[in-house]
Amino acid sequence: MCRFLPIIQPMSERKVRVRFAPSPTGALHIGGVRTALYNYLFARQHGGQMIFRIEDTDSNRFVPGAEEYILESFKWLGIPFDEGVSFGGDHGPYRQSERKAIYKKYVEQLLEADKAYIAFDTPEELDAKRAEISNFQYDASTRTMMRNSLTLPKEEVDALIAAGNQYVVRIKIEPNENVVVNDLIRGEVIINSTVLDDKVLYKSADELPTYHLANIVDDHLMEVSHVIRGEEWLPSAPLHVLLYRAFGWEDTMPAFAHLPLLLKPEGNGKLSKRDGDRLGFPVFPLQWKDPKTGEISSGYREAGYLPEAVLNFLALLGWNPGNDQEVMSLDEMVKLFDLKRCSKSGAKFDYKKGIWFNHIYIQQKSNEAIAELFLPVLKEHGVEAPFDKVVTVVGLMKDRINFVRELWDAAGFFFVAPTSYDEKTAKKRWKEDSGVCMTALAEFLNGLEDFSPQNQETAVMAWIAENGYHTGNIMNAFRLALVGEGKGPHMFDISSIIGKEETIARLKRAVEVLK
Ligand code: GLU
Repeated sequence: MCRFLPIIQPMSERKVRVRFAPSPTGALHIGGVRTALYNYLFARQHGGQMIFRIEDTDSNRFVPGAEEYILESFKWLGIPFDEGVSFGGDHGPYRQSERKAIYKKYVEQLLEADKAYIAFDTPEELDAKRAEISNFQYDASTRTMMRNSLTLPKEEVDALIAAGNQYVVRIKIEPNENVVVNDLIRGEVIINSTVLDDKVLYKSADELPTYHLANIVDDHLMEVSHVIRGEEWLPSAPLHVLLYRAFGWEDTMPAFAHLPLLLKPEGNGKLSKRDGDRLGFPVFPLQWKDPKTGEISSGYREAGYLPEAVLNFLALLGWNPGNDQEVMSLDEMVKLFDLKRCSKSGAKFDYKKGIWFNHIYIQQKSNEAIAELFLPVLKEHGVEAPFDKVVTVVGLMKDRINFVRELWDAAGFFFVAPTSYDEKTAKKRWKEDSGVCMTALAEFLNGLEDFSPQNQETAVMAWIAENGYHTGNIMNAFRLALVGEGKGPHMFDISSIIGKEETIARLKRAVEVLK
Protein backbone atom coordinates (compact mmCIF):
# COMPACT_ATOMS: atom_id res chain seq x y z
CA MET A 1 0.00 0.00 0.00
CA CYS A 2 1.30 3.31 -0.92
CA ARG A 3 1.08 6.19 1.53
CA PHE A 4 1.32 9.84 0.79
CA LEU A 5 3.22 12.10 3.07
CA PRO A 6 2.06 15.66 3.34
CA ILE A 7 4.42 17.88 1.44
CA ILE A 8 5.29 21.24 2.89
CA GLN A 9 5.55 23.62 -0.02
CA PRO A 10 8.57 25.88 0.03
CA MET A 11 7.74 29.61 -0.20
CA SER A 12 8.93 29.90 -3.77
CA GLU A 13 6.36 27.37 -4.94
CA ARG A 14 3.48 29.00 -3.20
CA LYS A 15 0.49 29.65 -5.37
CA VAL A 16 0.65 33.25 -6.48
CA ARG A 17 -2.22 35.28 -5.07
CA VAL A 18 -2.10 39.04 -5.10
CA ARG A 19 -4.62 41.67 -4.16
CA PHE A 20 -5.52 45.20 -5.03
CA ALA A 21 -7.00 46.70 -1.90
CA PRO A 22 -8.14 50.30 -2.33
CA SER A 23 -9.92 52.33 0.31
CA PRO A 24 -13.09 53.86 -1.14
CA THR A 25 -12.15 57.44 -0.28
CA GLY A 26 -12.71 59.07 -3.67
CA ALA A 27 -11.54 58.72 -7.24
CA LEU A 28 -8.81 56.19 -7.87
CA HIS A 29 -5.50 57.96 -8.45
CA ILE A 30 -3.57 56.97 -11.56
CA GLY A 31 -0.80 55.62 -9.29
CA GLY A 32 -3.33 53.15 -7.91
CA VAL A 33 -4.12 52.06 -11.44
CA ARG A 34 -0.43 51.33 -12.01
CA THR A 35 -0.31 49.33 -8.76
CA ALA A 36 -3.26 47.23 -9.88
CA LEU A 37 -1.70 46.77 -13.32
CA TYR A 38 1.57 45.47 -11.87
CA ASN A 39 -0.38 43.10 -9.63
CA TYR A 40 -2.31 41.90 -12.64
CA LEU A 41 0.81 41.36 -14.77
CA PHE A 42 2.51 39.49 -11.96
CA ALA A 43 -0.49 37.29 -11.23
CA ARG A 44 -1.10 36.42 -14.89
CA GLN A 45 2.55 35.65 -15.51
CA HIS A 46 2.57 33.17 -12.65
CA GLY A 47 -0.81 31.66 -13.36
CA GLY A 48 -2.05 33.12 -10.11
CA GLN A 49 -5.07 35.06 -8.95
CA MET A 50 -5.78 38.68 -8.27
CA ILE A 51 -8.23 39.70 -5.56
CA PHE A 52 -10.22 42.92 -5.36
CA ARG A 53 -10.63 43.87 -1.71
CA ILE A 54 -12.27 46.99 -0.37
CA GLU A 55 -10.55 48.42 2.71
CA ASP A 56 -13.34 50.46 4.22
CA THR A 57 -12.68 50.26 7.94
CA ASP A 58 -12.28 54.01 8.24
CA SER A 59 -15.89 55.11 8.05
CA ASN A 60 -14.93 58.80 8.35
CA ARG A 61 -13.20 58.68 5.02
CA PHE A 62 -15.83 56.63 3.18
CA VAL A 63 -17.06 58.32 0.01
CA PRO A 64 -20.21 57.03 -1.65
CA GLY A 65 -19.73 55.95 -5.24
CA ALA A 66 -15.99 55.38 -4.91
CA GLU A 67 -16.22 51.59 -5.00
CA GLU A 68 -18.37 51.62 -8.13
CA TYR A 69 -16.02 54.14 -9.69
CA ILE A 70 -13.00 51.90 -9.08
CA LEU A 71 -14.78 48.87 -10.52
CA GLU A 72 -15.85 50.79 -13.59
CA SER A 73 -12.31 52.03 -14.08
CA PHE A 74 -10.90 48.53 -14.32
CA LYS A 75 -13.72 47.43 -16.55
CA TRP A 76 -12.86 50.23 -18.94
CA LEU A 77 -9.16 49.44 -18.74
CA GLY A 78 -9.76 45.75 -19.41
CA ILE A 79 -8.20 44.50 -16.19
CA PRO A 80 -10.31 41.70 -14.74
CA PHE A 81 -10.07 40.42 -11.19
CA ASP A 82 -10.41 36.75 -10.33
CA GLU A 83 -11.95 37.19 -6.92
CA GLY A 84 -13.34 39.88 -4.69
CA VAL A 85 -16.06 42.47 -4.29
CA SER A 86 -18.49 41.97 -7.19
CA PHE A 87 -16.45 39.03 -8.52
CA GLY A 88 -17.17 36.47 -5.79
CA GLY A 89 -14.81 33.78 -4.56
CA ASP A 90 -14.46 31.53 -1.55
CA HIS A 91 -12.40 33.84 0.65
CA GLY A 92 -15.12 36.42 1.16
CA PRO A 93 -16.65 38.66 2.19
CA TYR A 94 -14.18 40.94 0.46
CA ARG A 95 -15.39 44.22 1.92
CA GLN A 96 -13.66 44.79 5.25
CA SER A 97 -16.70 46.45 6.80
CA GLU A 98 -18.43 43.08 6.42
CA ARG A 99 -15.70 41.19 8.27
CA LYS A 100 -16.07 42.71 11.75
CA ALA A 101 -16.58 39.39 13.52
CA ILE A 102 -13.50 37.90 11.91
CA TYR A 103 -11.20 40.68 13.09
CA LYS A 104 -12.59 40.59 16.60
CA LYS A 105 -11.40 37.01 16.97
CA TYR A 106 -7.89 37.90 15.91
CA VAL A 107 -7.75 40.89 18.24
CA GLU A 108 -8.63 38.52 21.10
CA GLN A 109 -5.86 36.20 19.97
CA LEU A 110 -3.25 38.95 20.20
CA LEU A 111 -4.53 40.08 23.60
CA GLU A 112 -4.41 36.55 24.98
CA ALA A 113 -0.89 36.03 23.68
CA ASP A 114 0.17 39.31 25.34
CA LYS A 115 1.17 40.73 21.94
CA ALA A 116 -1.33 43.54 22.31
CA TYR A 117 -2.98 45.43 25.13
CA ILE A 118 -6.04 47.52 25.90
CA ALA A 119 -5.64 51.27 26.33
CA PHE A 120 -8.21 53.64 27.82
CA ASP A 121 -6.45 56.97 27.31
CA THR A 122 -8.91 59.58 26.11
CA PRO A 123 -7.99 61.99 23.31
CA GLU A 124 -7.63 64.70 25.99
CA GLU A 125 -5.24 62.57 28.03
CA LEU A 126 -3.18 61.85 24.95
CA ASP A 127 -3.07 65.55 24.06
CA ALA A 128 -1.94 66.38 27.58
CA LYS A 129 0.89 63.86 27.30
CA ARG A 130 1.90 65.29 23.94
CA ALA A 131 2.06 68.73 25.51
CA GLU A 132 4.10 67.42 28.40
CA ILE A 133 6.60 65.26 26.51
CA SER A 134 8.03 66.57 23.25
CA ASN A 135 7.87 64.06 20.38
CA PHE A 136 5.63 61.88 22.50
CA GLN A 137 5.07 58.44 21.04
CA TYR A 138 3.00 55.65 22.59
CA ASP A 139 5.66 52.95 22.93
CA ALA A 140 7.74 50.89 25.37
CA SER A 141 9.23 54.04 26.88
CA THR A 142 5.88 55.73 27.59
CA ARG A 143 3.22 53.02 27.85
CA THR A 144 4.02 52.55 31.56
CA MET A 145 2.79 56.11 32.19
CA MET A 146 -0.52 55.59 30.47
CA ARG A 147 -3.89 54.12 31.37
CA ASN A 148 -3.81 50.66 29.86
CA SER A 149 -4.08 47.00 30.67
CA LEU A 150 -0.33 46.88 31.31
CA THR A 151 -0.53 49.47 34.09
CA LEU A 152 -3.99 48.87 35.56
CA PRO A 153 -5.01 45.81 37.57
CA LYS A 154 -7.09 43.29 35.67
CA GLU A 155 -10.21 43.92 37.78
CA GLU A 156 -10.09 47.60 36.95
CA VAL A 157 -9.70 46.91 33.24
CA ASP A 158 -12.69 44.58 33.32
CA ALA A 159 -14.70 47.09 35.33
CA LEU A 160 -13.88 49.94 32.94
CA ILE A 161 -14.99 47.85 29.98
CA ALA A 162 -18.11 46.65 31.79
CA ALA A 163 -18.99 50.27 32.55
CA GLY A 164 -18.94 51.03 28.86
CA ASN A 165 -15.68 52.99 28.68
CA GLN A 166 -14.29 53.17 25.16
CA TYR A 167 -10.87 51.70 24.52
CA VAL A 168 -8.44 50.81 21.81
CA VAL A 169 -6.22 47.80 21.39
CA ARG A 170 -2.58 48.59 20.68
CA ILE A 171 0.19 46.33 19.45
CA LYS A 172 2.92 45.82 22.03
CA ILE A 173 6.14 46.46 20.21
CA GLU A 174 9.30 45.23 21.90
CA PRO A 175 12.05 47.82 21.56
CA ASN A 176 15.61 47.41 20.30
CA GLU A 177 15.00 44.82 17.74
CA ASN A 178 15.97 44.98 14.09
CA VAL A 179 12.95 44.34 11.91
CA VAL A 180 13.83 43.15 8.44
CA VAL A 181 11.50 43.75 5.52
CA ASN A 182 12.58 41.76 2.51
CA ASP A 183 11.41 43.80 -0.40
CA LEU A 184 11.56 42.34 -3.89
CA ILE A 185 12.37 45.77 -5.31
CA ARG A 186 14.31 47.46 -2.52
CA GLY A 187 16.13 44.49 -1.04
CA GLU A 188 16.49 44.29 2.74
CA VAL A 189 14.99 47.24 4.55
CA ILE A 190 15.98 47.19 8.21
CA ILE A 191 14.24 49.26 10.86
CA ASN A 192 14.90 49.30 14.58
CA SER A 193 11.68 48.59 16.44
CA THR A 194 12.42 51.38 18.94
CA VAL A 195 11.32 53.97 16.39
CA LEU A 196 7.94 52.29 15.94
CA ASP A 197 4.94 53.19 18.06
CA ASP A 198 2.35 50.90 19.56
CA LYS A 199 -0.14 51.42 16.75
CA VAL A 200 -3.84 51.15 17.38
CA LEU A 201 -5.20 47.90 15.93
CA TYR A 202 -8.80 48.08 17.03
CA LYS A 203 -11.29 50.62 18.34
CA SER A 204 -14.16 49.62 20.61
CA ALA A 205 -16.10 52.72 19.56
CA ASP A 206 -16.97 51.33 16.12
CA GLU A 207 -15.90 47.74 16.84
CA LEU A 208 -13.66 47.99 13.82
CA PRO A 209 -10.01 47.19 13.33
CA THR A 210 -7.66 49.77 11.88
CA TYR A 211 -6.12 49.40 8.46
CA HIS A 212 -3.03 47.60 9.79
CA LEU A 213 -4.81 44.76 11.52
CA ALA A 214 -7.49 44.24 8.89
CA ASN A 215 -4.88 44.33 6.12
CA ILE A 216 -2.71 41.64 7.73
CA VAL A 217 -5.54 39.37 8.82
CA ASP A 218 -7.07 39.52 5.35
CA ASP A 219 -3.83 38.95 3.50
CA HIS A 220 -3.35 35.91 5.69
CA LEU A 221 -6.88 34.52 5.38
CA MET A 222 -7.03 35.27 1.67
CA GLU A 223 -3.72 33.45 1.23
CA VAL A 224 -2.02 36.39 -0.37
CA SER A 225 1.48 35.44 -1.50
CA HIS A 226 2.78 38.82 -2.71
CA VAL A 227 1.94 42.31 -1.56
CA ILE A 228 2.69 44.68 -4.41
CA ARG A 229 1.78 48.24 -3.47
CA GLY A 230 2.83 51.86 -3.57
CA GLU A 231 5.88 53.22 -1.82
CA GLU A 232 3.71 55.20 0.58
CA TRP A 233 3.04 51.93 2.41
CA LEU A 234 6.71 51.09 2.99
CA PRO A 235 6.76 52.80 6.42
CA SER A 236 3.96 50.44 7.53
CA ALA A 237 5.83 47.34 6.41
CA PRO A 238 7.94 46.79 9.58
CA LEU A 239 4.78 46.94 11.69
CA HIS A 240 3.19 44.46 9.31
CA VAL A 241 6.14 42.09 9.65
CA LEU A 242 5.80 42.33 13.43
CA LEU A 243 2.09 41.59 13.19
CA TYR A 244 2.71 38.45 11.15
CA ARG A 245 5.16 37.42 13.81
CA ALA A 246 2.75 38.21 16.64
CA PHE A 247 0.18 35.95 15.03
CA GLY A 248 2.76 33.24 14.37
CA TRP A 249 2.24 33.48 10.62
CA GLU A 250 5.85 34.09 9.60
CA ASP A 251 5.89 31.03 7.36
CA THR A 252 3.13 32.31 5.15
CA MET A 253 4.02 35.96 5.29
CA PRO A 254 3.65 37.44 1.80
CA ALA A 255 6.64 38.77 -0.06
CA PHE A 256 6.64 42.57 -0.29
CA ALA A 257 7.28 44.80 -3.27
CA HIS A 258 6.94 48.55 -2.82
CA LEU A 259 6.62 50.36 -6.12
CA PRO A 260 8.36 53.66 -6.84
CA LEU A 261 6.45 56.92 -6.50
CA LEU A 262 5.00 58.72 -9.46
CA LEU A 263 6.69 62.11 -9.61
CA LYS A 264 5.65 65.48 -11.03
CA PRO A 265 6.33 65.89 -14.76
CA GLU A 266 8.64 68.76 -13.89
CA GLY A 267 10.35 69.81 -10.68
CA ASN A 268 10.46 67.68 -7.55
CA GLY A 269 7.91 65.84 -5.53
CA LYS A 270 4.95 63.55 -5.81
CA LEU A 271 2.54 63.81 -8.72
CA SER A 272 -0.58 65.63 -7.57
CA LYS A 273 -3.96 66.47 -8.98
CA ARG A 274 -2.83 70.09 -9.14
CA ASP A 275 -0.05 69.15 -11.60
CA GLY A 276 -2.70 67.66 -13.82
CA ASP A 277 -4.93 70.73 -13.58
CA ARG A 278 -2.00 73.05 -14.26
CA LEU A 279 -0.56 71.16 -17.22
CA GLY A 280 -3.80 69.80 -18.57
CA PHE A 281 -3.74 66.06 -18.09
CA PRO A 282 -5.98 63.80 -16.01
CA VAL A 283 -4.75 62.01 -12.88
CA PHE A 284 -7.81 59.76 -12.69
CA PRO A 285 -8.83 56.94 -15.03
CA LEU A 286 -12.42 58.18 -15.38
CA GLN A 287 -14.04 61.53 -14.86
CA TRP A 288 -14.99 61.97 -11.21
CA LYS A 289 -17.58 64.16 -9.62
CA ASP A 290 -16.91 64.79 -5.97
CA PRO A 291 -20.24 63.98 -4.27
CA LYS A 292 -19.67 66.63 -1.57
CA THR A 293 -18.32 69.61 -3.48
CA GLY A 294 -19.69 68.74 -6.91
CA GLU A 295 -16.22 69.43 -8.31
CA ILE A 296 -15.50 67.56 -11.53
CA SER A 297 -12.07 66.10 -12.25
CA SER A 298 -11.14 64.94 -15.71
CA GLY A 299 -10.48 61.30 -16.54
CA TYR A 300 -8.41 59.51 -19.16
CA ARG A 301 -11.50 57.91 -20.66
CA GLU A 302 -13.36 61.17 -21.16
CA ALA A 303 -10.20 62.92 -22.37
CA GLY A 304 -10.14 60.47 -25.27
CA TYR A 305 -7.38 58.07 -24.32
CA LEU A 306 -7.60 54.47 -25.42
CA PRO A 307 -7.38 52.09 -22.45
CA GLU A 308 -4.56 50.13 -24.14
CA ALA A 309 -2.51 53.31 -24.42
CA VAL A 310 -3.07 54.20 -20.77
CA LEU A 311 -1.96 50.74 -19.63
CA ASN A 312 1.14 50.73 -21.84
CA PHE A 313 2.08 54.22 -20.67
CA LEU A 314 1.60 53.33 -16.99
CA ALA A 315 3.46 50.03 -17.26
CA LEU A 316 6.63 51.88 -18.18
CA LEU A 317 6.41 54.31 -15.26
CA GLY A 318 8.67 52.44 -12.89
CA TRP A 319 9.41 49.33 -14.93
CA ASN A 320 11.11 48.55 -18.23
CA PRO A 321 11.51 45.30 -20.13
CA GLY A 322 15.31 45.57 -20.20
CA ASN A 323 15.54 46.84 -23.75
CA ASP A 324 14.13 49.88 -25.47
CA GLN A 325 10.86 48.29 -26.50
CA GLU A 326 8.08 50.69 -25.58
CA VAL A 327 4.94 49.56 -27.35
CA MET A 328 3.61 46.38 -25.77
CA SER A 329 0.23 44.72 -25.69
CA LEU A 330 -1.11 43.60 -22.34
CA ASP A 331 -0.22 39.99 -23.24
CA GLU A 332 3.33 40.99 -24.07
CA MET A 333 3.61 42.89 -20.81
CA VAL A 334 2.44 39.78 -18.96
CA LYS A 335 5.31 37.86 -20.55
CA LEU A 336 7.96 40.51 -20.01
CA PHE A 337 7.04 41.90 -16.60
CA ASP A 338 9.62 41.45 -13.88
CA LEU A 339 9.56 42.97 -10.39
CA LYS A 340 13.35 42.89 -10.46
CA ARG A 341 13.27 45.40 -13.26
CA CYS A 342 11.16 47.87 -11.27
CA SER A 343 13.10 50.91 -10.21
CA LYS A 344 13.60 52.03 -6.64
CA SER A 345 13.60 55.69 -7.53
CA GLY A 346 10.47 57.58 -8.48
CA ALA A 347 9.20 57.74 -12.05
CA LYS A 348 8.57 61.12 -13.64
CA PHE A 349 5.03 61.32 -14.92
CA ASP A 350 5.78 62.25 -18.50
CA TYR A 351 2.19 62.86 -19.61
CA LYS A 352 3.35 63.82 -23.10
CA LYS A 353 4.54 60.27 -23.48
CA GLY A 354 0.99 59.23 -22.65
CA ILE A 355 -0.25 61.33 -25.57
CA TRP A 356 2.36 59.72 -27.81
CA PHE A 357 1.14 56.26 -26.78
CA ASN A 358 -2.39 57.28 -27.63
CA HIS A 359 -1.25 58.31 -31.09
CA ILE A 360 0.50 54.97 -31.56
CA TYR A 361 -2.50 52.95 -30.40
CA ILE A 362 -4.82 54.87 -32.70
CA GLN A 363 -2.57 53.83 -35.60
CA GLN A 364 -2.59 50.21 -34.43
CA LYS A 365 -6.34 49.96 -34.15
CA SER A 366 -8.38 49.13 -37.23
CA ASN A 367 -9.96 51.99 -39.16
CA GLU A 368 -13.34 50.47 -38.36
CA ALA A 369 -12.66 50.58 -34.62
CA ILE A 370 -11.56 54.20 -34.76
CA ALA A 371 -14.53 55.04 -36.98
CA GLU A 372 -16.84 53.64 -34.29
CA LEU A 373 -15.25 56.01 -31.80
CA PHE A 374 -15.50 58.91 -34.25
CA LEU A 375 -19.24 58.44 -34.89
CA PRO A 376 -20.33 60.11 -31.63
CA VAL A 377 -18.04 63.06 -32.37
CA LEU A 378 -19.63 63.41 -35.81
CA LYS A 379 -23.02 63.22 -34.22
CA GLU A 380 -22.11 66.04 -31.83
CA HIS A 381 -21.55 68.13 -34.94
CA GLY A 382 -24.84 67.08 -36.41
CA VAL A 383 -23.28 64.81 -39.01
CA GLU A 384 -24.66 61.45 -39.98
CA ALA A 385 -22.49 59.79 -42.60
CA PRO A 386 -22.34 56.34 -44.15
CA PHE A 387 -20.05 54.13 -42.07
CA ASP A 388 -17.94 53.21 -45.12
CA LYS A 389 -17.15 56.82 -45.72
CA VAL A 390 -16.18 57.37 -42.07
CA VAL A 391 -13.87 54.35 -42.26
CA THR A 392 -12.21 55.69 -45.41
CA VAL A 393 -11.69 59.15 -43.91
CA VAL A 394 -10.26 57.63 -40.73
CA GLY A 395 -7.82 55.57 -42.77
CA LEU A 396 -6.68 58.65 -44.60
CA MET A 397 -6.41 60.95 -41.58
CA LYS A 398 -5.65 59.02 -38.41
CA ASP A 399 -1.89 59.35 -38.68
CA ARG A 400 -2.32 63.09 -38.07
CA ILE A 401 -4.07 62.86 -34.72
CA ASN A 402 -3.37 61.98 -31.07
CA PHE A 403 -7.01 61.83 -30.01
CA VAL A 404 -10.06 60.63 -31.91
CA ARG A 405 -11.90 63.88 -31.35
CA GLU A 406 -9.11 65.74 -33.18
CA LEU A 407 -10.40 64.03 -36.32
CA TRP A 408 -13.15 66.61 -36.45
CA ASP A 409 -10.74 69.51 -36.88
CA ALA A 410 -8.51 67.53 -39.18
CA ALA A 411 -11.21 65.95 -41.33
CA GLY A 412 -14.54 67.67 -40.71
CA PHE A 413 -14.48 69.05 -44.27
CA PHE A 414 -15.09 65.57 -45.60
CA PHE A 415 -18.53 65.76 -44.05
CA VAL A 416 -19.54 69.40 -44.17
CA ALA A 417 -18.78 72.02 -46.80
CA PRO A 418 -16.74 75.01 -45.65
CA THR A 419 -18.96 77.86 -44.51
CA SER A 420 -16.14 80.34 -44.79
CA TYR A 421 -12.74 80.54 -46.41
CA ASP A 422 -9.58 81.18 -44.48
CA GLU A 423 -8.74 84.80 -45.22
CA LYS A 424 -4.99 84.48 -45.42
CA THR A 425 -5.13 81.43 -47.64
CA ALA A 426 -7.75 83.04 -49.87
CA LYS A 427 -5.63 86.16 -50.29
CA LYS A 428 -2.63 84.13 -51.30
CA ARG A 429 -4.20 81.35 -53.32
CA TRP A 430 -7.34 82.67 -54.93
CA LYS A 431 -5.92 84.46 -57.96
CA GLU A 432 -7.43 86.86 -60.41
CA ASP A 433 -8.44 84.05 -62.78
CA SER A 434 -9.31 81.46 -60.12
CA GLY A 435 -13.05 82.03 -60.53
CA VAL A 436 -12.90 81.35 -64.23
CA CYS A 437 -10.58 78.38 -63.83
CA MET A 438 -12.69 76.77 -61.10
CA THR A 439 -15.84 77.17 -63.12
CA ALA A 440 -14.06 75.44 -65.99
CA LEU A 441 -12.76 72.74 -63.65
CA ALA A 442 -16.26 72.12 -62.33
CA GLU A 443 -17.48 71.67 -65.85
CA PHE A 444 -14.63 69.38 -66.71
CA LEU A 445 -15.14 67.19 -63.63
CA ASN A 446 -18.83 67.00 -64.39
CA GLY A 447 -17.96 65.22 -67.60
CA LEU A 448 -15.79 62.62 -65.87
CA GLU A 449 -17.30 59.15 -65.65
CA ASP A 450 -14.72 57.58 -63.39
CA PHE A 451 -14.32 59.74 -60.29
CA SER A 452 -11.59 57.62 -58.66
CA PRO A 453 -8.59 59.58 -57.39
CA GLN A 454 -6.29 58.02 -60.01
CA ASN A 455 -8.54 58.78 -62.92
CA GLN A 456 -9.28 62.30 -61.74
CA GLU A 457 -5.61 63.00 -61.35
CA THR A 458 -4.66 61.78 -64.82
CA ALA A 459 -7.56 63.58 -66.43
CA VAL A 460 -7.18 66.86 -64.57
CA MET A 461 -3.43 66.98 -65.17
CA ALA A 462 -3.98 66.48 -68.87
CA TRP A 463 -6.71 69.13 -68.83
CA ILE A 464 -4.34 71.58 -67.07
CA ALA A 465 -1.60 70.92 -69.64
CA GLU A 466 -3.96 71.23 -72.57
CA ASN A 467 -5.22 74.61 -71.38
CA GLY A 468 -1.82 75.89 -70.36
CA TYR A 469 -2.89 76.45 -66.74
CA HIS A 470 -0.48 76.67 -63.85
CA THR A 471 -0.77 73.41 -61.87
CA GLY A 472 -0.04 75.02 -58.51
CA ASN A 473 -2.60 77.76 -58.98
CA ILE A 474 -5.30 75.32 -60.02
CA MET A 475 -4.65 72.87 -57.22
CA ASN A 476 -4.42 75.59 -54.54
CA ALA A 477 -7.71 77.15 -55.53
CA PHE A 478 -9.29 73.70 -55.82
CA ARG A 479 -8.19 72.91 -52.24
CA LEU A 480 -9.42 76.22 -50.90
CA ALA A 481 -12.82 75.62 -52.51
CA LEU A 482 -13.23 72.12 -51.09
CA VAL A 483 -11.58 72.46 -47.67
CA GLY A 484 -11.92 76.16 -46.86
CA GLU A 485 -8.24 76.44 -46.07
CA GLY A 486 -4.85 75.21 -47.25
CA LYS A 487 -4.73 71.93 -45.32
CA GLY A 488 -5.72 68.33 -45.98
CA PRO A 489 -4.52 65.19 -47.69
CA HIS A 490 -4.08 64.53 -51.41
CA MET A 491 -6.56 66.68 -53.34
CA PHE A 492 -8.07 63.92 -55.46
CA ASP A 493 -8.59 61.73 -52.40
CA ILE A 494 -10.68 64.54 -50.99
CA SER A 495 -12.74 65.11 -54.12
CA SER A 496 -13.22 61.40 -54.67
CA ILE A 497 -14.45 60.84 -51.11
CA ILE A 498 -16.85 63.77 -51.04
CA GLY A 499 -18.08 62.77 -54.49
CA LYS A 500 -18.64 64.44 -57.81
CA GLU A 501 -21.81 66.30 -56.98
CA GLU A 502 -20.49 67.78 -53.74
CA THR A 503 -17.14 68.66 -55.35
CA ILE A 504 -18.88 70.61 -58.06
CA ALA A 505 -21.20 72.30 -55.59
CA ARG A 506 -18.26 73.41 -53.45
CA LEU A 507 -16.40 74.73 -56.50
CA LYS A 508 -19.41 76.77 -57.56
CA ARG A 509 -19.96 78.12 -54.09
CA ALA A 510 -16.32 79.21 -53.79
CA VAL A 511 -16.53 81.01 -57.13
CA GLU A 512 -19.60 82.79 -55.87
CA VAL A 513 -18.27 83.79 -52.46
CA LEU A 514 -14.68 84.59 -53.38
CA LYS A 515 -15.25 86.71 -56.45
N1 GLU B 1 -6.07 50.30 1.59
C1 GLU B 1 -4.74 50.62 1.18
C2 GLU B 1 -4.84 51.63 0.05
O1 GLU B 1 -5.80 52.33 0.01
C3 GLU B 1 -4.02 49.36 0.75
C4 GLU B 1 -2.57 49.34 1.07
C5 GLU B 1 -2.01 47.97 0.81
O2 GLU B 1 -2.03 47.58 -0.39
O3 GLU B 1 -1.58 47.32 1.74
O4 GLU B 1 -4.02 51.75 -0.82
